[in-house]
Amino acid sequence: MDRDFVMGEDSILDSTEPNGNHIIDTIDPSQISFHRGLHGPVPSRKEQLPIHSHGGLLKATSVLRPYSNSQPSAEDTREDSSEFGSEDMDITPEPSPTVQVRIPPGPKFPPLPYSSSKTGLVYDARMRFHAEFPDLMSNADDIHPEDPRRIMEIFEEIRQAGLVQGPEDADEETKDEQCWRIEARHAQKGEICLVHTPSHYAFISSLKDKPAFELKELSEKLDSIYFNNSTFECATLAAGGAIEACRAVVRGDVRNAIAIIRPPGHHAETDSPSGFCIFNNVPIAARVCQNDFPRECRKVVILDWDVHHGNGIQHAFYEDPNVLYISLHVYRDQKFYPNLPDGNLDYCGEGPGLGRNVNIPWADHGMGDAEYIYAFQQVVMPIATEFDPDLVIISAGFDAAEGDVLGGCHVTPACYGHMTHMLMRLAEGKIAVCLEGGYNLRSIARSALAVTRTLMLQPPDRLEADLCPKESAVQTIEQVKRQQSRYWKCLYPKQLDPSHPSFGVAQRLHEIIREWQSKMLCEEHHMSPLTVKRTGIAETFEHNIIATPEFMDPHPLLVIFHDPPEMMNNPDPITGKTELHNSWLADVNKRYINWAVQNGFQVIDVNIPKAVMKEIDDGSYVEADSNEARAAQTKELAGYVWENYIEPHEATQVFFLGIGAAYLGLVDLLSHYEKCREPDSVVECLIGFVSDTVLQSIKRNFNDDDIVPWYYAHSMIFVQQSHHVWDRSGHKKIRRKYGRLIQSSKDPMNDMLLEHQEEVREYLLAKKRQYEKENAVFNGADSRQGLRSPTLPSGIQAARFSGDVRQTPKPGQKLPPLGFFTAPSSRSPLKRSF
Ligand SMILES: [Zn+2]
Repeated sequence: MDRDFVMGEDSILDSTEPNGNHIIDTIDPSQISFHRGLHGPVPSRKEQLPIHSHGGLLKATSVLRPYSNSQPSAEDTREDSSEFGSEDMDITPEPSPTVQVRIPPGPKFPPLPYSSSKTGLVYDARMRFHAEFPDLMSNADDIHPEDPRRIMEIFEEIRQAGLVQGPEDADEETKDEQCWRIEARHAQKGEICLVHTPSHYAFISSLKDKPAFELKELSEKLDSIYFNNSTFECATLAAGGAIEACRAVVRGDVRNAIAIIRPPGHHAETDSPSGFCIFNNVPIAARVCQNDFPRECRKVVILDWDVHHGNGIQHAFYEDPNVLYISLHVYRDQKFYPNLPDGNLDYCGEGPGLGRNVNIPWADHGMGDAEYIYAFQQVVMPIATEFDPDLVIISAGFDAAEGDVLGGCHVTPACYGHMTHMLMRLAEGKIAVCLEGGYNLRSIARSALAVTRTLMLQPPDRLEADLCPKESAVQTIEQVKRQQSRYWKCLYPKQLDPSHPSFGVAQRLHEIIREWQSKMLCEEHHMSPLTVKRTGIAETFEHNIIATPEFMDPHPLLVIFHDPPEMMNNPDPITGKTELHNSWLADVNKRYINWAVQNGFQVIDVNIPKAVMKEIDDGSYVEADSNEARAAQTKELAGYVWENYIEPHEATQVFFLGIGAAYLGLVDLLSHYEKCREPDSVVECLIGFVSDTVLQSIKRNFNDDDIVPWYYAHSMIFVQQSHHVWDRSGHKKIRRKYGRLIQSSKDPMNDMLLEHQEEVREYLLAKKRQYEKENAVFNGADSRQGLRSPTLPSGIQAARFSGDVRQTPKPGQKLPPLGFFTAPSSRSPLKRSF
C-alpha cells in the first residue's frame, strides 16, 4: 500500500502526553462530521484518501482546508477527530466545497521507538557549589577556568533555545520537542570505587569538614586542583549524573542523553584527583552500566574530544578489552597538559586491552573542523564501527572549541554536531554525552547546544566549504592508522609482519643502495670504506664513509657530506604499490665525485642516512631523524674524520661540501676549529647546498672576532630559490655570519646541484691552480708537485698504493676492504676522546 500523505508542519497536533509515556489516541468515528464529499462519486482506488487516526506515538493529524465560511474551524475538527480504521470511509479530495479531513494512515508496523523517544538531560544547580575560595581570586582575571558558571551557561543556552525546561517553567508541562530532565543523584561509594580506590573516596569525602586553610594547603600539593567543603557533594553529584544519564540510555528510557556536569573527570586517576578533576565520571558510569546490564551493555566506546588527553580514562581501561577509549587531543610532544608520554599514539593498551586504546595526538594547537572531521572519517568511525559497541559515551570537553584560549583550537559548534551525528550511528543510537572541560563560557554553551540539537535529531549545521586538514594533522592521522592497523581489520596500510618468513631475508633499501654506491665507486675510483669507531650514524652501515686511496697524501681533498640519493617513483595507480621497474634513483652527488677524481682531487664521501636504525628491524615505519639530530651527527662524524683521517695527514687543501642537513653540521665543525683560520690552514672553503633546512651561522667565540669575515671569505652557500631567507632580503640585509649566500634559480636539491655544478668546478679548479702556482714558486721542483697533477688511470693508481697499510681493491674484487683507524691526533682541535 503506497499512499502519499503530505504532513505539513501545522498538521501535527500538540501533544499533551507526559514524558515518555505515550497515550494511545483513540478517536470516535461518530465524532467526525462529514460533508457532501462523502456522498459524491466514488473515487478511483488511486485517488482514494484514507481517513485514519492511529494509536501510538504519531499524533492524529489533520490537514484542514476550509472552502467556505460555514465549515467548522480547524480546532473544531481536531476535537472531532475520531478513529477510522477502515478505508471504506474514503472521501473525494476535490472538488469539494467543504472541509477536507485528512488523517495519515495508521502505521503498518509499531512506531519507530528511537525517533519517538526523547533526549534526556542532566543538570543540577547544586554542582555549582564546588568553587575556588573567593580570597584566592584577587581580581577578575584570576578566576579559575573551571568556573562554576560553566554548567549554568550551558543549561541556560539550551533552555533559552526552548529545548528544556528550567526552574521558572516548573508549572508547565514538558513539551514534545523538549528534553526530558533526568534527575542527578549522588553516586554511591560502591559505584565510585568501581574506578577509584577506597582511600581516594575517603580523602574526597573528608574534605566536607576540613577548615579552609587546610583545603588550600591540600590543593596546593596536588596537580591543578582546588577544594572547598562542597567538593565531595558536587563530585558525587557529577558522577551520579553521568551514571543516571548512561543508565537511562542503556535502559531505553531515553533515546540518548546529555549530562551537564562538573567537576570534570577525565584527568582523575584511580587514587588521586588532578587537572580540575575529582572523580572520573565517565569511567564510573561505564562500569556501573556494565555491572547493572551485563547483557545489554557489554562493550562501551568512550570518545574523548576534550583538547587534553584523558589520562585517567586511559589508565582505568588500559587492560580492558571491552572498553575502547579514543582520544583526540593536543599532545605537542608532551609540552601540553597532562604532559605525560601516555597521550602519544603508541599507547595502545596492554594485555587483553591491547588495541583498545586509540590516541590521536595533535602535534600542535590550531586544529579545527577540517582536522577533526578528517580524524573521524579516517580513524574514529572505522575503528568504532568495527568494535561495534553497545553504548557510546562522549567525554565532551569543549576546550577545543573556537574561542577557548586554553585549547587554542578552532572546532565550531557545527563540527561538534557532525561528530555527534556520526557517533549516533553506533550502538543503535545509544549515546550519552558527559561534559568534561571547556573554559570559554560562550564557546561551551554554543557547542553544547549544537550537540543537544543533534541528539534531538536536528541535522547538524553545514560545515564551511573546502575543509582542508593541515599537513601535520594528516601526518598524525597516517601514523595513527599505521599504529592501529595491527589491531583493526578496517585500517590500512598494514604494518609489515616481521614474523613472516620472507621478512628474514629482507633489507631496507637505503642500506642496499649505499652499499651499491660504495661498490660502484670502488670499481670506478677504487674508493674503500673507512672504519669509524663511533656510535650513531657511523655504525649504521659499513659503507657510510668511503674514500679514494690517496686521501692521506699531498693532494687537494674534497670532503662531501650528503643526504642519501633521492628516489622517485611512479606508484601503481590502483594499489599505490611502489615497484622497482617504476622507480628511479637520482644520484647527482656521484657527478661531483667523478669530476673531482678526474681532476686530481682525492675524495672522502660521507652518507648521512635519514635515520639511525634500531638494531633489530621490526618492520615498523621509521620517521626520518630531525634535521637538528642529523646535523649533530654530521658534526660529530666530521670532527672524527677530521681528527683521524685529515689533520694527521698531508692533504694540501681541504674543501668541504655539505649537502642538505649535513651542511649544518659542517658549519658547526668550522665554528669550533680555530686553526682553520690560520694562514697555513689547509681548509679552503665550505660549499653548502641548502634547500628546506634553516641557515646556520658561524659561531663567534669570545676571543676570535675574525671568524665572521673569515667564514664569509671562505664559504659559498647556495640557497634554494624559494627559501624563506630571501623573503626578507628586501627589507633587511642578510648577516655575514651566514657566509656568502648565493640565491639559486632552482628549487629542489637535485636541480640545484646540477645547476651549480659548473660554478663549483670552476671554483675548485681555480683554488687548486692557485695553490699549485704558489707552491711551485716556493718549492721549485718539489717532488710532490707531480702528485697534484690529474690522477693516473685507476689501474696504475691502484698498483702504486699496493704497499700502503690499506689494501687497495683489485678490479673485480667484490667487497672493498675496510680502511684503517688511527689514534686521535694531538693536533686535534676537538679535545674529545673517541
Ligand atoms: Zn580539557
